[in-house]
Amino acid sequence: MRNIFILIWLISPFLSISQDRNIQIRGYMDTTNVVFQDIYQLWKSYGDDMWSNNFLGTNIDTKKYWAESEIEEYGDGFNLHQLLAPDYFIFDEFFFGINKRNDTLYELQTSFHSNYLTTYDLCYVITVPVIKTKDGYKFTNKFSLNKKNLKKEKIDFVEFYYPKDYSLNKKQVKKTIKKVELFAKNIGLKEIKPIKYYLQNTYTDLLYSFGITTAIGDYCIADNIANEGRAYYKARLITYTKGGENTIHEFIHIIIQDIRNNNNYCFFDEGVCSYFGEMNSLPYSFQIKKLKDFLNKNTKVNLSQDLTNAYKISKNEYTSDTTGQENNMKTWMRGDSTNYSYIIMATICDIAFRQGGYDKVKKMIFDSKDGEEMYGVIEKHLGIKREDVDKYIRNFLNNTY
Ligand SMILES: [Zn+2]
Repeated sequence: MRNIFILIWLISPFLSISQDRNIQIRGYMDTTNVVFQDIYQLWKSYGDDMWSNNFLGTNIDTKKYWAESEIEEYGDGFNLHQLLAPDYFIFDEFFFGINKRNDTLYELQTSFHSNYLTTYDLCYVITVPVIKTKDGYKFTNKFSLNKKNLKKEKIDFVEFYYPKDYSLNKKQVKKTIKKVELFAKNIGLKEIKPIKYYLQNTYTDLLYSFGITTAIGDYCIADNIANEGRAYYKARLITYTKGGENTIHEFIHIIIQDIRNNNNYCFFDEGVCSYFGEMNSLPYSFQIKKLKDFLNKNTKVNLSQDLTNAYKISKNEYTSDTTGQENNMKTWMRGDSTNYSYIIMATICDIAFRQGGYDKVKKMIFDSKDGEEMYGVIEKHLGIKREDVDKYIRNFLNNTY
């Protein structure tokens, strides 16, 4: 799942408004304190560097900021906050303070909020451990410090980490690994490089172990236990909440990126992961029926107009018809336990697979584009013109499922 990337798409038009990064320090702090100044400056210039590099960190002197142990362990993915809060730099920052923990360990705490909407929106509160080294202060990951208390087990190409009170279903793990290996083989990946897989009981626990006290994606649904997973290609690290050992969705994300041989991400990836794997821990065979019902109930949704968004009328009603909908924001089509936008992509993957097997899916993985350009990819590989996409998908679902 990459819900946060969707968020970046949604708010990206607003990003161009603010050219400079906005960072404030909490009032009544002794900002003249030398330790405070050193650590704060390090954090601020890291943020400035990331900001001017579009949050990619590809062009910055990482060793200036991060402990060598993190770079050794996670490569380019040393900043593990980007696994669960990949977009945090884009928000306005309110710096909370710094605490000393022992002779060599400090922690800074900071928060991020958005002003895009009319109300104040707290998005993240993040705690970052800072260690004192012979080369000055360096950031480290809360997960690296917490890892010592986790159980660790290597099964095949996967290194599992999980808390002592988590009961890992090893029988299921073996089944899952077999499925991943089969998918990799079929799509043409000869060898799967090691992957770290961190399982936690709840999403809140997951966030906490990475130093994220508050996150935009948590505490969203009051009557549902959240199943959440993320894959962070740069660090070859996957996290999932309870039951993650039953799912291959996040593994497929990493395999797709191995095939592309880069860190690029396209929304079509979600379709491939949901078709060959699951979506919200539920299989494609279940989700596809929900999509069929959804589209049959929402006859005005026009997939030739948009593949991921529609105008929202009420809880489960959408339309792509703009007439009279001026006051409604265009919104991502989703319902209980199903992101329809993911399953629409999965349907496209399904059609591709029926037409030309793994080969065709692989070609589409290489060519896939986000937004309107995806229609061109669909026409090129599946021979369906944009104006026919809506009818084609509806007929396909009604005739097949
Ligand atoms: Zn995903």
